[in-house]
Amino acid sequence: MKRYFIHTFGCQMNVNDSLRMGEALAKASYGPTDRAEDADLILLNTCAIREKAEDKMLSALGRYRSVKASRGALLGVGGCVAQQEKDRLLKKVPYLDFVFGPDAISRLPEILARVEQDRVRVVETAWVDSEEYVFPRADPNSSAGKVTEFVTVMKGCDNVCSFCVVPHTRGREVSRPFPQVLQEVADLAGVGVREVTLIGQNVNSYRGGLSFAQLLRRTAEVPGIQRVRFTTSHPHDLSDELIDAFAAQPKIAPHFHLPVQCGSDRILKKMRRDYTVAQYLERLGRLRAARPGIAVTTDIIVGFPGETEEDFQATLELTRAVRYEGQFSFVFSPRPRTAAGLHEQEWGPVPHEVKVERLERVQKLQRQISGELMAAQVGSEVEVLVEGPSRTDPSRRFGRTPENRTVNFDGDAPDGAQVQVRVRSATPNALSGEQVMPEGRAA
Ligand code: SAM
Ligand code: SF4
Repeated sequence: MKRYFIHTFGCQMNVNDSLRMGEALAKASYGPTDRAEDADLILLNTCAIREKAEDKMLSALGRYRSVKASRGALLGVGGCVAQQEKDRLLKKVPYLDFVFGPDAISRLPEILARVEQDRVRVVETAWVDSEEYVFPRADPNSSAGKVTEFVTVMKGCDNVCSFCVVPHTRGREVSRPFPQVLQEVADLAGVGVREVTLIGQNVNSYRGGLSFAQLLRRTAEVPGIQRVRFTTSHPHDLSDELIDAFAAQPKIAPHFHLPVQCGSDRILKKMRRDYTVAQYLERLGRLRAARPGIAVTTDIIVGFPGETEEDFQATLELTRAVRYEGQFSFVFSPRPRTAAGLHEQEWGPVPHEVKVERLERVQKLQRQISGELMAAQVGSEVEVLVEGPSRTDPSRRFGRTPENRTVNFDGDAPDGAQVQVRVRSATPNALSGEQVMPEGRAA
């Protein structure tokens, strides 16, 4: 059997797409290997969200060139850079065999046949129209033994945030029909999965025959499923119906990733985010009233063109006001074909060293807040869904709380069990403790 190796860059969407690539390759009689050196086929599943991600993939391609030369392995690039660069990538990288976009994953066997038999270099980056697009169905067997899994509910994005390349690399929004989503969730529950995360670029605008709030509730009702999560949501689509679902269905995990990007209305407007800080806080207030204790995380961009120290101070202020559980923060990276990328010079580029310094300041503040929120858990008992051995110390167990806090603990609970853990210590990133044993059992 021939072997494939996939190097995945970027977000959960890509991690999930790589699994679908593996399933498509199985149909072409390819099996997986963990070592590129053993592979007959090397795929890079790429990310274009920031320039750095693109640079990393180009240097990885350089490394795989020697494997190609020594074993005659085929080399293909998929994902967002493939969609963005199309045939330009074949010109730029002469030893590359093929380029395929996110909509071509299920056609990988045909693409490979053309490359192998016809000895041609292939570019497959056409979009598939909404009515015709068929979401690749996950093979539940590849999830056997896993406690938590992702389920795709939509692809693409219809927003036009001025910094973001996603609408160009993932196309228009297409929602997956809800019966397919629920069937996949039921199949996953059938092989032991206990937690699912519904994923899409903007899940709140889901339109697959139910509203997103209805889809969440129906997912939570699938027998065997104990927790439901989702990502990502755009604040301007955060409906009252979704907030109500948090109040009504305890299996919807009390964690909300709500990317704000910036704390200044002036910059939010230039980002074309379609909400003000006051509106964002109002939505958040309702959410917290509906589900007290809900953990909120966000994404932040610093150094957007024209961002002044005062605008940045507003981001720090918002961070303090919301007290986020965590933030993913980035320096602005100009992207091709985006308004902010094209107009950076005119809108006022922020010098690189200022961007980096602002990033450090917001990250320092967030670490302090995360540390305080985690320290407040010490001494309490938390509910943990067990996912496996601890990564830092395999003699301990690892899992997450409903709020998505990671926990390493002493205990013997099997994967998939929900147990109580008494928290003994905390860092900004993880809690540590011991399993609370039922009466009569020693820890
Ligand atoms: N759909 C999500 C939303 O609306 O918030 C975001 C998806 S994007 C893959 C993840 C994050 O990358 C964004 O929230 C943003 O913070 C960051 N990002 C996107 N474009 C960026 C850029 N040009 N420079 C820096 N960070 C960027
Ligand atoms: Fe990008 Fe904005 Fe769409 Fe998110 S909502 S994927 S940031 S365009």
